[in-house]
Amino acid sequence: MIPKPPPREGGLGFLFIPPFRVQGTSIAGEATCVQVPELDVCFDMGVCPRAALASKIAAISHGHMDHIGGLAYYCSQRVFQGMGPGTILCPKAIGPSVKKMMEGYIGLEEQVTPYNLVEMEQDQVFEIKNNIFIRLFDVEHTCPSAGYTVYERRSKLKPEYYEMPQEKLRDLKEKGVDITRVLHVPLVTYVGDTSPGPWLIREEVRKSQVVIAECTFSEDDQVERARVGKHLHMRDIAEWLPVLECQKLVLIHLSRRSHVIEARKQLRKLVKGQHADRVEFLMDHKANKTRYERQEFDVQRQQGMPVQRGPRH
Ligand SMILES: [Zn+2]
Ligand SMILES: [Zn+2]
Repeated sequence: MIPKPPPREGGLGFLFIPPFRVQGTSIAGEATCVQVPELDVCFDMGVCPRAALASKIAAISHGHMDHIGGLAYYCSQRVFQGMGPGTILCPKAIGPSVKKMMEGYIGLEEQVTPYNLVEMEQDQVFEIKNNIFIRLFDVEHTCPSAGYTVYERRSKLKPEYYEMPQEKLRDLKEKGVDITRVLHVPLVTYVGDTSPGPWLIREEVRKSQVVIAECTFSEDDQVERARVGKHLHMRDIAEWLPVLECQKLVLIHLSRRSHVIEARKQLRKLVKGQHADRVEFLMDHKANKTRYERQEFDVQRQQGMPVQRGPRH
């Protein structure tokens, strides 16, 4: 008999919610790191998978190890791979500790890793790129914790000009009349570890296209544990879901003991069909693979391409 090799680590969770990819890993107490490549942002950095390095920004919700353990590595690897310094966004309350952690590595490595640190207060905004910005909001956990919403700025014609012909609009524009107004469209919201509270019904959270949120517990006998640990329970999700306008709610941070199949069953028990259909689990590899194959199949069919294979069930 020879010793067995260690079990293969599971791959990253992956969902395509057009036009966004939501990918990463998230198990309560172990590690959470959720990347949206289209927005250059990675929410939390409990570990740093290779793919996460490509995000210029790491938006940290709070200082628990399962959300921050890979942060120093992320900063160091980005520089090592010639990708430039990473930018860390975090709640102001934990900024000094993040700095201290990074300083600790200077002594350990005997070299300085450059990085940018942005300590953010409630409602503070940070520009990501052209027309895209991110805003922090406070939530409540056993330590200071925050959520983030990424917005797009869109110029729209002012309603009084809707009926006006193109040439006239052009004339007005040339005369320097401001015919547009700017809308702030919430795209993606990420809610870090939190207990339920009014922050969950902030306007930008309700109106986000995609909401990514923790749901640590789902079983009936775990309600008290969720309260004590200041986490969301599936019952909170069931109550919250009808007020959310999102296309998809992506649940993360399920504890290792709560099986995703059981969690889905609980969801179906607590929530009526249509709303339940809007919920996805980042770490449900099997369901997400089937979902992706169906998306691929639909696109091929729409484009009149020879269909490679049908969705598997
Ligand atoms: Zn956590
Ligand atoms: Zn936590």
